[in-house]
Amino acid sequence: MRFAELSGNEPIVKAMAGMVDSGRVPHAIMLHENNGGGGFGLAMAFLQYLYCSSRSDGDSCGVCPNCNKISKFIHPDIRFAFPVVLSGSSGSTVSPSEAFWGDFRTLALENPRFTEQELYAAFGFEGKKPVISVAEANALLLSLSIYSLEGGYSSVVILFPEKMNLSASNKLLKMLEEPPAKTLFLLITHEPEKLLPTIVSRCQMFRVASPLVSDAASYDDSGMLASLMDALIARDLMTALSVGEQLAALPSRESAKGFCRYAAEKLRRVFLYQQGLAQLSEDDAEASGWALSLNPRFSRMTLGILDRTVQLIDRNVNLKILFTDLVNGMYINI
Ligand SMILES: [Zn+2]
Repeated sequence: MRFAELSGNEPIVKAMAGMVDSGRVPHAIMLHENNGGGGFGLAMAFLQYLYCSSRSDGDSCGVCPNCNKISKFIHPDIRFAFPVVLSGSSGSTVSPSEAFWGDFRTLALENPRFTEQELYAAFGFEGKKPVISVAEANALLLSLSIYSLEGGYSSVVILFPEKMNLSASNKLLKMLEEPPAKTLFLLITHEPEKLLPTIVSRCQMFRVASPLVSDAASYDDSGMLASLMDALIARDLMTALSVGEQLAALPSRESAKGFCRYAAEKLRRVFLYQQGLAQLSEDDAEASGWALSLNPRFSRMTLGILDRTVQLIDRNVNLKILFTDLVNGMYINI
């Protein structure tokens, strides 16, 4: 995939091309996207630019052997890790995701903007809890210790790194702390708050804009979130609950979900401000203000509640109950 095939995200494309042009490619890059929001396509276009043997005008050529292999997901120096449901013994160095590689490639070729759920559906994992295990991390470590087959960078693309269990996270952290020369990690996440902060802080972070962000922000409810946050920060539960009632009276279930997505986006920004990692998001004075007043757990806990709220909205649970629970849950964590 060439940069030209992507839409939007010009500032990120420019920054990424600049890193390659100046020879200053960081060891680890994190693309924070909305679920299915184009982080994977950006990662692949970036890799194609990095490996391309005849770059021009800030883009890959799309036809050289490296571009060709990358566009088919068969470049030997680029490996992928993604969550899978484990079967058999763990602790080995056989990559558990290997068995799903064919399905992964088919999906990635057909629809590079797949969501986490679409990935699991392609693997037949509905209703299960896929993880990135320590066996996967071991397999990556082993593959990185083998010299790049084509003499350039060895790269690892990790999809949904928040699905790493703790031992896998610690393995990855070690790799990020002492990266072998000419290795590149590309992490694509829509839930950076679920990662170890020490992993996030070792990555060059990019916030990938997607149509969903502008959709969510265009909901006429930014004032409602602000009223809710003001009441919570003032520890005024009665006012917070009355905002909850207004939310329950939003015109449709879709707009209720729109509010949840908008609130999640804002709280992720709060989280990133609190971690000191928001330098590449566009400035958000409101979120940076909230970051100062909120304890570090608040965003993480509330994002979990918002996730659940969206699922329950889909299951037709009464909105008044859902938003009362949401407000109460936020209040407890304030
Ligand atoms: Zn090329």
